[in-house]
Amino acid sequence: MKTVRIDASASYDVVIGPGLLRVSGQRIAALGGRVRVMVVSDERVFSLYGPSLLESLRAAGLECARFVFPQGEREKNLTTYGALLEALCREKFTRRDWIAALGGGVVGDLAGFAAATYQRGIPFVQLPTTLLAAVDASVGGKTAVDLAGGKNQAGAFYQPRLVLCDTDCLETLTQEEYRCGCAEIIKYAMLGSGEFFRELAETPVKERYEDVIARCVAMKRDYVQADEYDTGERMKLNLGHSFGHAAELLSGYALPHGEAVAMGMAVMCRSAEKAGYCQAGTAEKLTALLRSYGLPTELPYGAEALAEAARGDKKAAGDSLRLVVPEAVGRCRIETVPVGDILTWLKRGGVK
Ligand code: NAD
Repeated sequence: MKTVRIDASASYDVVIGPGLLRVSGQRIAALGGRVRVMVVSDERVFSLYGPSLLESLRAAGLECARFVFPQGEREKNLTTYGALLEALCREKFTRRDWIAALGGGVVGDLAGFAAATYQRGIPFVQLPTTLLAAVDASVGGKTAVDLAGGKNQAGAFYQPRLVLCDTDCLETLTQEEYRCGCAEIIKYAMLGSGEFFRELAETPVKERYEDVIARCVAMKRDYVQADEYDTGERMKLNLGHSFGHAAELLSGYALPHGEAVAMGMAVMCRSAEKAGYCQAGTAEKLTALLRSYGLPTELPYGAEALAEAARGDKKAAGDSLRLVVPEAVGRCRIETVPVGDILTWLKRGGVK
C-alpha cells in the first residue's frame, strides 16, 4: 500500500493498493463522520464493483443512494450531469453529504463537477477503476463535462477529499483500457523521467501497478502543487492532448482518450524533432515504446480537419495555441504557437 499526500487548495491522500474498496466505508466515515453517500458509477463498473462498495459503506454505518448511467464518453454531458444534480436534490443531500465516484475518468469528471456545483460544493471521494483514472483523472481536481463544441468545456477546479485506488479493480480492464492508461503513463515518463521511460520499456506496467501508479501520482502532485489552476507548468500534462483532443472531437468521441493522446504525442514529437526542437532519435524511441504497448502512433484524420478542430481547444488563447513540445525523453517545454501554424506542425509530424 502506498500513500501520496496532495497539498493544493485542499489537502488529501491518494491511497494506492489492493483491497481498498472493502475498507472504503471506514475511510470515508473517518473523514466525514456519519454522512450519506451518493455512489455515482457507470453501468459496467457498477455491475462489477458497486455491490462491494455499497456493502463497505453500509458496514461503516453510512446511508447510501446511487446514480448509475450508461458507460462511455458520450454520457459525460450536461444531460447526465443535470440528472445527477436532480437525483441529489430529490434524495435531499445536504452539504455535509458525500459523492463517491466509482469508475474511470468519465465518472470521476462528471461526479466531481456535480460535487463542485451541487449546493455550491459538497465533499467527494474518487475511487478510480481504470488505469487512466488512477494515474491522472482522479488526482488534481479538474472536473468537467463535454459540450457539443468540445471536450471538457464546462467544468470546475474542485479537489476531492480522498482518492482510493484499489488496484484489484484493474484486473478486469480490457486490453484497450489497459493500453489507454499506459499512454498517460508514457506521457509522464516523456515529461519528467528518462529512467522511468526505460523501466516502462523493460517491465510491463501490469506487473507493478502499485509502484507505477504511485510514481505517476507523485509527478502529478508536483505539477498540481506548483500550478493548481493550470496557468503554467501544469499545462505540460497536456502533452499529446491538443492534437489528441482534436481527433477525439472529429471521431464524435468514439476514439478512446488514451489512444488519441498516444497519437498526439507521437505526431508532436516527430514534428518537434524535424523542426530541431527535440533531440534526434527521441521520436523513434517514443514510437517504439507506444507500439510495444499496442498503442497507435498516427492520427487517422487529415491535417486540415485536425487543425480546424484544434482551434476550438481551450488551450487556444485568441490567435495562439500552447503546445507541449518534447525536447528529449524526460523533458518538454511549452511553446506558444500562432493558430495559423498548427497546420504546419501537423504536416511536419507526418499528417497528410
Ligand atoms: P471511462 O471512464 O469511460 O472508462 C473506460 C471504460 O472502462 C468504460 O466503459 C468503463 O465502464 C470501463 N471500466 C472502468 N473501470 C473498469 C474496470 N475496473 N473493469 C472493467 N471495465 C472498467 O474512461 P477513462 O479512460 O477512465 O477516462 C477518460 C476520461 O477521463 C475522459 O473523459 C478524459 O477527458 C478524462 N480525463 C480527465 C482528467 C482530469 O484531470 N480530470 C485527466 C485525464 C483524462
